[in-house]
Amino acid sequence: MVAKPMPRNPTRSVSIGRVTVGDGHPIAVQSMTATKTQDVAATVALIDYLVEAGADIVRIAVDSKSDAEALAAIRGGTDAVLSVDLQENYRLAPLVAPHVDKIRYNPGHLHHLEKSKPIRDKVAAVVDAASRSDCAIRIGVNCGSVDPALAEKYPNDSIAPMVRSAVEHAEILDELGYDRFVVSLKDSDPAKVIEANRLFAEERPDVPLHLGVTEAGLPPDGVIKTRIAFEQLLSRGIGDTIRVSLTVPNDRKHEEIEAGRQILDDVAHGRFRSVPANLSHRLNIISCPSCSRVENEAFVDLAQNVKKLCKYAEEFDVTIAVMGCRVNGPGETDDADLGLWCAPTFVNLKRGEELIGAYSYADVLPKLREELDELIAARKDS
Ligand code: SF4
Repeated sequence: MVAKPMPRNPTRSVSIGRVTVGDGHPIAVQSMTATKTQDVAATVALIDYLVEAGADIVRIAVDSKSDAEALAAIRGGTDAVLSVDLQENYRLAPLVAPHVDKIRYNPGHLHHLEKSKPIRDKVAAVVDAASRSDCAIRIGVNCGSVDPALAEKYPNDSIAPMVRSAVEHAEILDELGYDRFVVSLKDSDPAKVIEANRLFAEERPDVPLHLGVTEAGLPPDGVIKTRIAFEQLLSRGIGDTIRVSLTVPNDRKHEEIEAGRQILDDVAHGRFRSVPANLSHRLNIISCPSCSRVENEAFVDLAQNVKKLCKYAEEFDVTIAVMGCRVNGPGETDDADLGLWCAPTFVNLKRGEELIGAYSYADVLPKLREELDELIAARKDS
């Protein structure tokens, strides 16, 4: 079958180093490092490995001044197009911007520091750093960490706070006169990713979108969930860059790029894979892809072991979230029936928003089994 030009929304073009996205440019495929950012040799090696596998842009997480300092050495070790994830600390922007091509900030994390300072001033500081260093910006909205004021305003709706946050921040950047930005709206539920991106694209058809299903989890389920969202969005012309987030060890990170390229190729050729109709009513294990913040290298094994342990419950409509760190772990496990988030030497186990306890990496599995048995028994009785 011959590839037809994919329909593309009339987004404006945004240059990110030597890559240009939007305005009909090829859809860029991204990935992210999961090494400790201060381990410069390992991080450069992983970046080069990802580029070799076909990544157009590689993202790195930076949480501290020491991470920011390591970026200078990383920049010197690779000519890859680099993006940096500021997460909680927007004040690092001036330190990181000279070494990267794009800065991602999360609007939901801007309230963590300097609580009395207006959000607009914090965004202005990021924009100032980006413009001085010729950087693009990504406004990266995430379901698990939306602006608390918007979450309060729309108490029974998880999509509206994401869309309103993205639109508000796009308007702030407009007012600041900075148009080199893209937006992402990520959730672990593909249906919500589709709806949030569709609504944003309707309102702001000019803004390039970076697509992703966050915490998609272990392959093959992680690829299937991502495919559900990407097929729907890409075939409607929505999406200028993509990332498939998979929970895999570093030596299998190329699978993120391969899955992304395969989905793009399939959509271009009109090959849409059938999706099990009852996917959302079966056991759903969501897990983050891990990054430099991961608290313990045993995280990927933990996610794999959770999947094996819970296989007996495949037919039940239960969501289990497995997260690698304290940054996103506590918030992004809240909506799951059972949640695990990693600390350096133990794992926190939650039932919904309630913390059950902290267990060693070995002991958490039998405790999880106990909780899952109870949950299933309760569901059978109801
Ligand atoms: S949950 Fe933590 S370790 Fe996992 S990808 Fe997110 S920030 Fe990284």
